[in-house]
Amino acid sequence: MYDLFDVLFAQYAAAKISGLTALQANTDQRLTSSTDRLTALEHKYERMHIVTVALWALLKERTGLTDSDLKRLVGSVEASEANAHGAAGTTACPKCSRVIRKSAMRCVWCGAAVTTGNAFHGT
Ligand SMILES: [Zn+2]
Repeated sequence: MYDLFDVLFAQYAAAKISGLTALQANTDQRLTSSTDRLTALEHKYERMHIVTVALWALLKERTGLTDSDLKRLVGSVEASEANAHGAAGTTACPKCSRVIRKSAMRCVWCGAAVTTGNAFHGT
């Protein structure tokens, strides 16, 4: 009687362990994939940052635009974004108070985490 129980339990345990091992492998693969995607995004961000800084330096050099001109235009774009999405689609960042989309997970200006209280925002 004990022998049959031991055999059945051993089979049950082996099946459980096999299932957990497969689950762990799947989780490891997803984590690796997410890490690779994050690294690729960081590289794209760095390239875009360098190109943006270079373009701004070129514009200042060739056109006489100033940093205050850029700040004014950024503010203008920010306001037009708010108008485009309306009050229902925008909110104020809880840290810096600038206008951001309600669907944003982080403030594009200061990087503060934004929680809207709605689990479906940002999905
Ligand atoms: Zn902010």
